[in-house]
Amino acid sequence: MDLGLKGKTALVCASSKGLGRGCAEALAAEGVNLIMNARGAEALEEAAAAIRAAHGVEVTAVAADITTEDGRAKVLEAAGEIDILVTNAGGPPPGLWTDWEREDFIAALDANMLTPIALMKVCLPGMMARGWGRVVNITSQSVKAPIPVLGLSNSARAGLTGYVAGTARQVAEQGVTINNLLPGIHATDRAVALDTGVSKAQGITLDEARAQREATIPARRYGTAEEFGAACAFLCSQHAGFIVGQNILLDGGAVNATL
Ligand code: NAP
Repeated sequence: MDLGLKGKTALVCASSKGLGRGCAEALAAEGVNLIMNARGAEALEEAAAAIRAAHGVEVTAVAADITTEDGRAKVLEAAGEIDILVTNAGGPPPGLWTDWEREDFIAALDANMLTPIALMKVCLPGMMARGWGRVVNITSQSVKAPIPVLGLSNSARAGLTGYVAGTARQVAEQGVTINNLLPGIHATDRAVALDTGVSKAQGITLDEARAQREATIPARRYGTAEEFGAACAFLCSQHAGFIVGQNILLDGGAVNATL
């Protein structure tokens, strides 16, 4: 299927590794020019070079912390006019509800709610004026089914979800769609970090922690960044213009719910 994206430009935040990288790869494979971002310059430059070589698209790499005002300004300046925005950043640390103080919530809200909102506020007017745009926010399955140790994520991402539900319906008329992709567990560094936490807490090996988690997923495996990227590229495609304000789970069936 031709996704109809050749020659478009996408800003993919937090994309040197993991799910962001999967989205960048899938869009590049469709002929989309990229602005890629991450904090670590080395891994980012490596990822950008690999994508240029594999797909022959233009890739601008901007090393910056997307959760800071300065970082966003740097990224947005380099990006210029974009057709597609994929928001992403690292997830909050695990813990218990008794651990977190106001500052912990402020940090999580900044990274996983207010950063995507700030990026949308800057990018949406241009997309609307040009009559076409796509925004995909990488959130989490925790929006549909709270994860006990990720209370900071449960909270911040629920806030973003509410914002998207309202805003998506105000920009759709101008040909701009906003949707959220909700990853369940995927085989990335983040999954290793979460499984390491479980292995330490339970005194089991990392492999045992992973096997234990896999057993809870109907698909009996972790998702891949490639699968995730393909779903993102489809949501950005010409075929997805009627998908507005949705929250799409990619979780191997882990959330046990009818809707
Ligand atoms: P990952 O493999 O750890 O990759 C994170 C990427 O984001 C890296 O490229 C990292 O590079 C970049 N990054 C992190 N913080 C950043 C920041 N402040 N500014 C710019 N770039 C930043 O993580 P992932 O698994 O892809 O997860 C992506 C998001 O999905 C996270 O919010 C995570 O919580 C969420 N999620 C993941 C899963 C999963 O199973 N993997 C499940 C549910 C939700 P630098 O470190 O160099 O900046």
